[in-house]
Amino acid sequence: MRRVYLDHNATTPVHPEVLEAMMPFFQDQFGNASSIHWAGREVKKYLDDAREKVAALLNATPEEVIFTGCGTESDNMAVKGVAYALQDKGRHIITTEVEHHAVLHTCQFLEKAGFEVTYLPVDSDGLIDLEKLRLSIKNQTILITIMFANNETGTVFPVQEIGEMARGKGVIFHTDAIQAVGKLPIDLKQLPVDILSLSGHKLYAPKGIGAQYIRAGTKLTSLIHGGGQERNRRAGTENIPYIIGLGKASEIAQRDFQGRSEHLLALRERLHRGIINRIPHVKLNGHPTKRLPNTLNLSFLYIEGESLLLNLDLEDIAVSSGSACTSGSLEPSHVLLAMGIPHEIAQSAIRLSLGWSNTQEDVDYVVEVLPRIVQRLRDISPLYQKRVSRSK
Ligand code: PLP
Repeated sequence: MRRVYLDHNATTPVHPEVLEAMMPFFQDQFGNASSIHWAGREVKKYLDDAREKVAALLNATPEEVIFTGCGTESDNMAVKGVAYALQDKGRHIITTEVEHHAVLHTCQFLEKAGFEVTYLPVDSDGLIDLEKLRLSIKNQTILITIMFANNETGTVFPVQEIGEMARGKGVIFHTDAIQAVGKLPIDLKQLPVDILSLSGHKLYAPKGIGAQYIRAGTKLTSLIHGGGQERNRRAGTENIPYIIGLGKASEIAQRDFQGRSEHLLALRERLHRGIINRIPHVKLNGHPTKRLPNTLNLSFLYIEGESLLLNLDLEDIAVSSGSACTSGSLEPSHVLLAMGIPHEIAQSAIRLSLGWSNTQEDVDYVVEVLPRIVQRLRDISPLYQKRVSRSK
């Protein structure tokens, strides 16, 4: 049987070229980048090179990029780091209701420590009202943290406009770009972003490596203290093999950007069309056009997303309901609920997220298998039966 992986927003496989680039750094090039002897010096060159590659993907300078342990760490570093650095100036932070828990739970932690957080609502497409954002900014506001693209729906936020507003008011703007990097063009010479978080494992590098762009001059308190690595911003001996992996993945993302984007968009449209042509009562969640090219979040009315996921898994098709971190909980996604989607429709959602190695055959297989599963689940769904008997 075919195995199809459509959960690339949860994690991606390591690209073969990335793995190949990493391998020498486990044994031959094992030095500590801080050592001044040959073993350290050699590795330091490769560390600098990886930093340049990440910077190049974002059109930033290497001095503005530091490596972290994961995307969650980058988000924590940005939100807590700014809060601690600027608490004497003000204690107000603005975010949205649809952030990843790496930002939301960090904000909740800061609320317990006496900070005030405004959680902006979103509309039915998952977007904020920029006027509401403008009105929320006060003299005490020190940070606006709003994601680049949502991990569940793929909705892309107006980062340019948000950044301009933040800059106009002298407020630091952090964006969690963990789902956007490699999928959308990001030019930090143009975008008014002060801090940007990214994660290796959404970009075909391994899990457990992240990076942070910090615009020169941005005030940030370090969260991890120790040695002076990463310009004193993040102590700890650098995880060289994984950093090399992230550098290589960034280089590939830049090199293959056009081809990947076109491929993903074509597959996503084929998948979407294939599904709605064969299955009635399917609703798209997220913005219809301002959306990541690889992401499709669909509600299959009258059935549970979780049951659909399990039944697809029996056919060796991997998708997700909710985000990877909250799947397994029966609560519907906080993102879909924030978009005003009724509880039972939110609960009937699954997320299909494509990657560069997916093929038309993968998509066609899913389109072939899905109608049968949906019909079987609808046949035993009390909600669907009620609807059928009402329409008789
Ligand atoms: N932010 C977003 C938008 C994400 O999608 C994820 C991962 O799902 C994270 C943060 C956390 O990143 P990591 O898994 O590298 O800690």
